[in-house]
Amino acid sequence: MNLSALQACIRDIPDFPRPGVIFKDITPLLGNSAGFRWTVDQLAERIAAHRPDALVAIESRGFLFGAALAASLDLPLQIVRKPGKLPYKTISMAYELEYGADTVEAHADAFAAGDRYAIVDDLIATGGTAAATAALIESQQAVVACCAFVIELGFLHGRDKLARFPVESLLHYED
Ligand code: AMP
Repeated sequence: MNLSALQACIRDIPDFPRPGVIFKDITPLLGNSAGFRWTVDQLAERIAAHRPDALVAIESRGFLFGAALAASLDLPLQIVRKPGKLPYKTISMAYELEYGADTVEAHADAFAAGDRYAIVDDLIATGGTAAATAALIESQQAVVACCAFVIELGFLHGRDKLARFPVESLLHYED
């Protein structure tokens, strides 16, 4: 397995979920056990270098990678979800979208002050979701160790919103 074999496991779906968006479909990667294992191993190595105490996976495809990474790295996993999904007391952070706004939520006891958290998602586009997750972590006096993604849409410059943190990604798309 290598990066071009990984890239071959990502399927482009034009005009989904709306016209003009090319959706990066990771389901072929999930269906390829060697490819998925390799992806998790590569990300695990990069994340470990930042010495996190725990991982934070973002709903929903971030959960798939976050759970495998947490097991592989033997680290605790916390989850950040869309509003209204978590059953216990929550904390939340709103962020701006191109049109409108959105919110990420975590359980109130998810982040311990001073602990280091690695944020994990399948893909960084504008960076808004990851930046809001970082703000939520920091609102609890916890530390963002790094942000890690399988895919980076470089042409959307999401990395600029995460300038204060190390950002790791395996596949870069520039158009
Ligand atoms: P953003 O906040 O703009 O960085 O968007 C990141 C979130 O939206 C991630 O959770 C991605 O799963 C999802 N996402 C955004 N754009 C795409 C895309 N082109 N293909 C697949 N997922 C996307």
